[in-house]
Amino acid sequence: MRLVTFQDGNGTRIGVLVGDGEIVDLAVADASLPRTMLDLLASGVSFEVLDKAVRGARRMRVEDVKLKAPLPRPPRNIFCVGKNYHAHAKEFANSGYDASAKEVVPEVPVIFSKPPSAVIGPHEPIPSYLDPTSSVDYEGELTIVIGKGGRGISKSSALSHVFGYTIINDVTARTLQERHRQWLLGKGIDGFCPMGPAILTNDEVPDPTALELRTWVNGELRQEAPLSDLIFDIPTLIETISARITLEPGDLIATGTPAGVGLGFSPPKFLKPDDVVRIEVTGIGALENPVA
Ligand code: MG
Repeated sequence: MRLVTFQDGNGTRIGVLVGDGEIVDLAVADASLPRTMLDLLASGVSFEVLDKAVRGARRMRVEDVKLKAPLPRPPRNIFCVGKNYHAHAKEFANSGYDASAKEVVPEVPVIFSKPPSAVIGPHEPIPSYLDPTSSVDYEGELTIVIGKGGRGISKSSALSHVFGYTIINDVTARTLQERHRQWLLGKGIDGFCPMGPAILTNDEVPDPTALELRTWVNGELRQEAPLSDLIFDIPTLIETISARITLEPGDLIATGTPAGVGLGFSPPKFLKPDDVVRIEVTGIGALENPVA
């Protein structure tokens, strides 16, 4: 199922997307269920219980509510992975904006983070005006949502710690990324982490490598890749991070972006006001944001 956080005149709640453009408010379906996405995924509630609650429940129209990021304010920084697709690692190394490393394909996963304050929801504007260097770029990324936490999680049990998957746009100010010799200041800017539109639950994704990601800017297809192209796969990322950092419910791991970002073009195709970025991943839906 696809879980969402939404807002209307009665406040912010969580729900399930059903049918064609409809939504079930989980608080209405079963008043005993947790009221926030973080509480829900930390509760360990089974997908069968949610499924049962939703059946026959009253529905609302999605167009009558405002979808927010599924986790509007993640409890801590979002883990991100750099250079995790071969073709993108090459385009980044050749772009002149990579001050981070000499090697094109990393030997071990490159991990950095974005602060929770960077998160915005579907259709919220990306504040490109916060980059004084006009080098704002998009990065469509499948993102893991951790359910059951833990340290020292093995590859073989990694997928059982996944609650589901969502989409993040790892928006980046390229000049700041290069100038400061690390990635936080170029990627942690307010509003530079659009997330959504939903969390596709793990039970519907028996094989995450079968998913495909596509990104359009103003209707022009820029990125297209299967998740099987990841250099470091999802179990490896979970094992690597959790080796020494305890993963907690609600942690997010953005798995990296494929080739086709703006800096890969000559000259670079950076975002400008009034552009629209749309990222789709199989089964999750489309995350669309205008640029301000
Ligand atoms: Mg990225």
